[in-house]
Amino acid sequence: MDEAKNDVKNEVNDVKNEVKDEVKNDVKNDVKKEKGGISVEAAQIFPIIKKWLYSDKEIFLREIVSNACDAVTKLRRLISLGEVKNIADENFKVKVTLDKDAQTITVSDNGIGMTSEELKKYICQIALSGALDFIEKYEGSEGDTSGIIGHFGLGFYSAFMVSSSVDVITRSYTGQPAVKWTCGEDGEYETEENCDCDELFDERGTAVIMHINDEGKEFLNASSIRDILDKYCAFMPVEIYFDDGEEHEHEHEHEHDGECECGHDAEEKPINDTLPLWLKKPSECTEEEYKSFYTKVFHDYREPLFWIHIRADYPLNFKGILYFPKITSEFESLEGQVKLYYNQVFVSDNIKEVIPEYLLMLKGVLDCPELPLNVSRSYLQNSGYVTKISAHIIKKVADKLNGMFANEREKYEKLWTDIKTFVEYGSMRDRKFYDRVKNSIVYKLCDGSFATLSEYLDGAKEKHENKVYYTSDRSKQASYISMLEAEGIKVAVLDKFVDSQFINTVEMNESGVKFCRVDSELADALKDGEKAKEVKGVSKLFGSIVPEGTKITFEKFKNAEIPAILNISEQSRRMEDMMKMYSMAGEDASNIGAFPTEATLILNTENSLIKKLDDDATNPEIKEKIARHIYDLCIISQRGLEASELEKFLRESYDILSML
Ligand code: ADP
Repeated sequence: MDEAKNDVKNEVNDVKNEVKDEVKNDVKNDVKKEKGGISVEAAQIFPIIKKWLYSDKEIFLREIVSNACDAVTKLRRLISLGEVKNIADENFKVKVTLDKDAQTITVSDNGIGMTSEELKKYICQIALSGALDFIEKYEGSEGDTSGIIGHFGLGFYSAFMVSSSVDVITRSYTGQPAVKWTCGEDGEYETEENCDCDELFDERGTAVIMHINDEGKEFLNASSIRDILDKYCAFMPVEIYFDDGEEHEHEHEHEHDGECECGHDAEEKPINDTLPLWLKKPSECTEEEYKSFYTKVFHDYREPLFWIHIRADYPLNFKGILYFPKITSEFESLEGQVKLYYNQVFVSDNIKEVIPEYLLMLKGVLDCPELPLNVSRSYLQNSGYVTKISAHIIKKVADKLNGMFANEREKYEKLWTDIKTFVEYGSMRDRKFYDRVKNSIVYKLCDGSFATLSEYLDGAKEKHENKVYYTSDRSKQASYISMLEAEGIKVAVLDKFVDSQFINTVEMNESGVKFCRVDSELADALKDGEKAKEVKGVSKLFGSIVPEGTKITFEKFKNAEIPAILNISEQSRRMEDMMKMYSMAGEDASNIGAFPTEATLILNTENSLIKKLDDDATNPEIKEKIARHIYDLCIISQRGLEASELEKFLRESYDILSML
């Protein structure tokens, strides 16, 4: 929803609130007579409705069906309060009927219905909240009435987005005569008292008949209605039946055998599940139920990895289930789906004002009946309530991860590849989340084991203190890895794009910790301990071979076999990677400045070839060839050769071989 729509929505809410206050005063002062004052003419509001909801036309059905469910909920409540004695709390339903020939969509219910006065008050005057009256009336009675107000959107009048006229036929549970109200697109209406009520399928209730106009044509077909019902009404609390008009003929065929009395409901199944899994107690839900709920709601036939059932009590009062989906590729994971419900009525997918963005990588449902949904998104973003919901969800997610880490470490490690993107991304986005889960973040090591940061560093103490050695490409960097592993240094595998960002976060949060790619420096453990002296002649020789800017240093390696290695400074390589990323994203990277790669060629003074280069007896031409070859081998093990380099390398190799 964009800003403009929000503005209009706020405007409408202001109007609604004014009217509501008026009614409230009436009720308080017990004024029964009709009075003037603020009364908003329907005609004034129609253009607003059309403008605001233009792109979201389909929600008219949600509004009308949820009103019908509310009407049933209200009657049920009266029954449970003992206010109504002659109606049994059973057989409540909502019917949605498509009649293509008549070009109508009808929503009928056997709920509370309206008297002629109520109809005037709630329908004729725009959006007077009937729920408000209801609550005023039953305020103080036991139980919770808050679930009754489904107050969001534009309610009843959204029907006019798709209708040229709307009829309401209603009969109150109190048994007063039925009344019909008919209103055209222009806001002009007529009422007919004592009307015939064939449209009602029970003794009481309401039928809203929408005469669909050109703008609503797309809804005059069964599959689009079914889709909308499935999207918005799948978990509404009253059974909803859809009659697409097609079954009629089918039903009549059977009528002669006397088994079928008046319709199709008896055999049909409601389109919704009135008691969605999230409302149940976790202890009463089976693993199978969680899995099939997931498949049904997200149409994902892969099993979820695990899930979290959240039930937050007063004052947050929201419920939900969050699933960790199976992730097959690194980027797929960013596309989750968290459906937000308001008292079992679907509101929207992935509302990032309510749910921290990184949690949207998960799949799940959240039902937040306390959420003030008739306010702007920017309000939601800064709302203390939303902040608390987020904090609660984050805590639950972290608790789950920590619990699995502590109690089922083996299983946790198996799942790690699938959840790490989420955990790392969340840690980068939200320091609080990082702090909660940091002790359960594990690193996969080249030897196949897993270690947390502190486990890794504990094992590293004498060898490399607070440095974490990692590889971003196991095959390219194999020679560096084996050099480190030979000295007992473990190497972490951080080869995903998100890893390269994540290590910055860890370094920022954990003071002193440094991540070093295996080719970024010569670990102290690989050195002999003693300082090596520079060998001038050799230094000069390599100086003429390496590209400008490459430093040349000398060390005594423990392993005498290796003549030299090439290191690329971690910092400069990260800068370079970042620039690549910017230019890939098509952004201007010029203000970052050009960062020359800081390369260092480290020559091993213990190695026989290097010694040979320092030997005056060696032919200078051969010295040159050896040095060039050593450098090429360093490049090969650092980054590999490019096509043109390879050709030159092969030529020189043949040359050297021929000298043997
Ligand atoms: P609200 O957000 O209050 O539901 P609406 O514009 O949707 O606003 O509806 C206005 C009022 O009309 C409702 O509060 C309710 O009192 C009444 N109403 C609407 N639909 C029905 C229905 N199917 N049965 C009984 N009352 C209804």
